[in-house]
Amino acid sequence: MSNRKLNFSAGPAILPEEVLEEASHAILDLSQTGIGLLEHSHRGDSFGHIIESAVRGCRSIAKIPDNFHVLFLQGGATLQFAMVAANLLREEGVADYLETGSWSKKAVAEARIYGRIHISGSSSDSNFDRIPPQNSLRPSSNPDYVHYTSNNTIFGTQWKEEPPCPPNVPLVCDASSDIFSRKLNIEKYGLIYAGAQKNLGPAGVTLVIIRDDLISRVDRPLPKMLRYSTFAETNSLYNTPPVFGIFMMDRVFQWILREGGLDAIETRNNKKAQVIYDVIDESHFYQGTAQVDSRSVMNITFKTSTPELDKLFLFEAERNGFHNLKGHRSVGGMRASIYNAFPENGCKELAKFMQEFSAKRG
Ligand SMILES: *Cc1c(COP(=O)(O)O)cnc(C)c1O
Repeated sequence: MSNRKLNFSAGPAILPEEVLEEASHAILDLSQTGIGLLEHSHRGDSFGHIIESAVRGCRSIAKIPDNFHVLFLQGGATLQFAMVAANLLREEGVADYLETGSWSKKAVAEARIYGRIHISGSSSDSNFDRIPPQNSLRPSSNPDYVHYTSNNTIFGTQWKEEPPCPPNVPLVCDASSDIFSRKLNIEKYGLIYAGAQKNLGPAGVTLVIIRDDLISRVDRPLPKMLRYSTFAETNSLYNTPPVFGIFMMDRVFQWILREGGLDAIETRNNKKAQVIYDVIDESHFYQGTAQVDSRSVMNITFKTSTPELDKLFLFEAERNGFHNLKGHRSVGGMRASIYNAFPENGCKELAKFMQEFSAKRG
């Protein structure tokens, strides 16, 4: 569709156009059943096929071994901040958290409701402009789990690889803003969660990939809706699931597979980010907000020399068809979010616009 804009929103974010087309048809009439996607019973065959296909697609993309469950939950990644601790943190236990930005701080605050939290690494002293270096980490001796945020959406930093985690200690990851953007070795993890609205679909559904032995690990009194076991035992159909979100995820998974899977997606994402980082590095006009070795491939944060010039940049960008580039208020400047569905050409166009703007104003 020609009037769709280049949308650099950090989330909810751009989705593959062909998936949106499929959805618009399915909402009126799902697979020629004469009933729309949102009007079908979640217990019927039509939706049954969709959720099965979504689980299969997810497993196939990430080569998820049989000893993991794939769950579709509600409450966003934010509910997982509490649910992870409620289900995994023992009464007398301690959990290690790597504090790399606003989202991980929120995860810590919720986890503290359930037990002792040890901050085993942090970059708060430099306003989260980096991933803490390995030699600065102070892990506790036997934590119930280690939690980290793989991509820090607001500050534009990303772990290049998993943080160290002792054997037999589950690694837990909030991957909301970079899930399925690169190759993923699930066996390193105990649990991965992601709100859908950055790389997977619409807001309202959360993907949880959890190793079987963690499903019923801690037995504290909890409402059924807060237990992983409730959803593992019912294939995510304990109550009415977010049917639209699951449909969309299924179609996004099929799209990822058609695009060539995580290998191809990773290669493309690296190229997309590189053209923009190259402009930042080759000019004295722009400064990257994140330290070079910690830069995110999903959210590119940068500034000019003054807030006034940033404002002018944003104004002219908007006029030239580049939307939602304003940085988060806690960082300022600009942020280009270029998730999986963001087109490679759009990144090249932004790079060109940045060069032209600096030539004119530099
Ligand atoms: C967006 C985001 C969240 C919040 O997700 P909700 O689905 O709105 O709860 C949490 N963590 C990260 C890393 C995010 O990018």
